[in-house]
Amino acid sequence: MKTIALADTSAPHAAHLPHVVIIGGGASGVLLAAHLLRDPATPLRVTVIEGRHMLGCGVAYSTSDPGHLLNTRVANMSAFPDDPDHFRRWLGARGDDATGACFVGRATYGAYMTDLLAPLSADGRLRCLRATCTRLVTTRVGVAAHLDDGQVIPADRAVLATGHVLPEPDPEGLVHGAWQEAAPPPQGGRVVIIGSGLSMVDQAISLLSHGHRGEIVALSRRAQLPRVHAAGAPLPISRAEVPLGAPMSFALSWLRDLAARAEAQGGTWRDAVDGVRPHLSALWRAMPVDDRARFLRHAAPWWEVHRHRLPPESAATLQRALDSGQMRQLAGSFDGASRDGAILRAHCARAGPIAS
Ligand SMILES: Cc1cc2nc3c(=O)[nH]c(=O)nc-3n(C[C@H](O)[C@H](O)[C@H](O)COP(=O)(O)OP(=O)(O)OC[C@H]3O[C@@H](n4cnc5c(N)ncnc54)[C@H](O)[C@@H]3O)c2cc1C
Repeated sequence: MKTIALADTSAPHAAHLPHVVIIGGGASGVLLAAHLLRDPATPLRVTVIEGRHMLGCGVAYSTSDPGHLLNTRVANMSAFPDDPDHFRRWLGARGDDATGACFVGRATYGAYMTDLLAPLSADGRLRCLRATCTRLVTTRVGVAAHLDDGQVIPADRAVLATGHVLPEPDPEGLVHGAWQEAAPPPQGGRVVIIGSGLSMVDQAISLLSHGHRGEIVALSRRAQLPRVHAAGAPLPISRAEVPLGAPMSFALSWLRDLAARAEAQGGTWRDAVDGVRPHLSALWRAMPVDDRARFLRHAAPWWEVHRHRLPPESAATLQRALDSGQMRQLAGSFDGASRDGAILRAHCARAGPIAS
């Protein structure tokens, strides 16, 4: 993984300009800084405060496993919506043979995020500090970010881009977190992975690529796997046709009708899901609160597996392991883990049959 040293706090910073402090230098923080400073004439300076040693990577893009792919095509991952080819050009410039339709490694995307800031540091409008912000207070003239190294950074505005909260490690050390440092890869024996979404796929792919020979069991309540990406184009959907404020049941039947429309036009349900995407936050905000709760209880798991899809390469690796019997899915809910001598046991309340 490529890293850049975070700039020294003593680097000249254009002190006369209005100042934005961004707390969190994952993809959101870096993209915001890049957008704010993209035009060299914008009279603004930005400080990015990031607690980790990598900029732009956060949880998602700091993996070093080349088998962990973006779940979005190159063509849809440009940092700049008005320059959709930006990421593909960046890949080409470093000699990667990537088309817009392919899925590249997430570590590569982290390097792209890091590179976005490199040209912006030259004119003194950007500085990046490696520190953790422990407190943010409003002052008479703006805000002040208090850092764990004792510095206080005054600014006119602050943006919280602190992203995902990592789960606390299991105090008993029985369950290894998916986003912790990689566990030593077991070569034999059974590994139980709790969950069956994209992070489960990452873990399974890492195990398989490290030569794991034992069984892999993916345990989840419904034993559903993320669906696979396929070629297609989002269905054009105008804001006027979106049933804002409708109950969940109506919104779901509207979505099913859209999928039927996409299929009638020679596409797939994916075109409907992708077509709805730009309207999701408006749809969610307008949905009655009781219906939102109902959605989370009943429909969210189904929505998730259709919305967050697998690159075909990852799906093929998984399918080979399922077909060979090395991997299986188990429907049930995880009920805790225990140690029995040298054996770890995952306890599960069965909720249904083993998925085939
Ligand atoms: C495993 C995984 C895979 C994903 N894959 C994709 C994908 O393929 N395509 C896609 O579009 N999206 C993907 N996502 C979604 C992805 O999370 C977002 O696209 C994006 O990375 C979120 O970035 P973020 O900056 O909001 O959060 P984060 O990536 O979590 O970054 C937040 C940053 O803030 C820092 N921070 C937090 N608190 C402080 C503090 N107090 N002081 C200083 N620094 C602090 C953290 O160290 C971290 O670096 C994935 C997510 C995960 C978890």
